[in-house]
Order: sequence, then C-alpha cells, then structure tokens
Amino acid sequence: MDVATNLERINQNIRQACENSGRNPAEITVIGVTKYVTIERAKEAINAGITNLGENRLEGLLAKYEYIQDDASWHFIGTLQSRKVKDVIDKVDVIHSLDRMSLAKELNKRSSRPVDCFVQVNVSGEESKHGIGADDAVSFIKELKQYPNIQVVGLMTMAPHIDDEAYLRNIFRKLASLREAVKAEQLQHAPCNYLSMGMTNDYKIAIEEGATHIRIGSALVGPQ
Ligand SMILES: *Cc1c(COP(=O)(O)O)cnc(C)c1O
Repeated sequence: MDVATNLERINQNIRQACENSGRNPAEITVIGVTKYVTIERAKEAINAGITNLGENRLEGLLAKYEYIQDDASWHFIGTLQSRKVKDVIDKVDVIHSLDRMSLAKELNKRSSRPVDCFVQVNVSGEESKHGIGADDAVSFIKELKQYPNIQVVGLMTMAPHIDDEAYLRNIFRKLASLREAVKAEQLQHAPCNYLSMGMTNDYKIAIEEGATHIRIGSALVGPQ
C-alpha cells in the first residue's frame, strides 16, 4: 500500500477513536516510525503529509536525517545510550525515552537549549521493557529539576504486544493517571501535558485513553 492510503485509514481510525471518547482529533500527533524502511519510503511519508518522524536507533536517525532533515520534526523513541547523546542532541526535537538519571545528566550537559523529553515509564512491569517503574516516576521527575536543559513534556510507555484489549486499556489508563499525578505537582520543569502511547497494534485504544502522540510504524509505512 502507498503511505497516503495507509495514512488515510489511520486518520479515519483516529477520528473514530476520538468520537468514541469525546476528544478532538487535532489533539493527536502521529509520529511516523521509519525504523524498518528505506529513505525513499520515509520521504513518501513526508509527501503524504507526515510532519513528525521517529527513529529508535542513532544509525537509522542519521541515515535519514541527512536526506530529510528540516522536512520533519525528529523524535528519538528508542533506548538512548549516554555515549550517543552528543550525536543526536542537535538533530532531534523530542526524546521519548528518558528512563534514567545518568541519561538526564548527559542530555543536560550536551544540550545548549532545553530539550523536550518524555519520561518513559514501564507501566506493565515487564522485565524486557525499559522505563522507570510507575511507583518511582513522580520522584524521578521531581529530581530532574536539577537539570535546567530537561523539560518534561509528557510520559511515554510501550505496552506489550498482545491483543488483550482490557489489559492494554488498563496500561494506558495507568499512564494517564500518572500524568495527572505529575501535573498536580505543578513543576515548572515538568508541565507534562502529553502522553506518548499507542503503536500499530493498540493506537485506537491508546487514543481512547488519552494519547496525544501515537508512534506508528507498520500500519503507516509497511508493508511496502
Ligand atoms: C518500532 C516502534 C514503534 C512502532 O511500532 P509499530 O508496531 O510498527 O507501529 C513505536 N514505538 C517504539 C518505541 C518503537 O520502537
């Protein structure tokens, strides 16, 4: 399928999920995840109207950034090793995977401006998943105050790849309520207005539960 057709279907689903939950589709940002595809396919996404691209590895980001750069806002969505921060910091607009203090320290040091970050939370508690434990998220975010170049714009989670809708819904609800807990702290460095949750498998549910940023790979750019 061409990306434009895929995007039209995704937009329909977004409208439907918003209708189901009394939300405005304008609140939803679609991040096109291009990690599995070629530069050409990523460009096709841009031509279809995608303005936000996500990559989960430094190498993938650099390869596409060289050709696409200013045509998109760039989101780093994967685990970020501290030693690679210096190579991505000037290229990415948003980091979705702030999951430890040592990374915050490095981002703070290497950036010349405040960086928009999502704090990644491991809501499901799966050992294979990165992220701060849900119980530790608020205190972690409070501690980030010491780093003036870290701006916590929201929370991010990855749900397990399963089809149990009730289970997924519960994960997204937990992240949404955690956002409320952070907002209640009224921290200047953590307005925390956004929720980055929902991928190909589960974005409709995520939107119904409050997602503002959905990260879509397969449904948008694959299969070619
Ligand atoms: C790959 C990836 C996505 C997109 O996955 P799809 O299931 O292909 O939509 C979203 N978020 C993260 C963090 C990813 O690594």
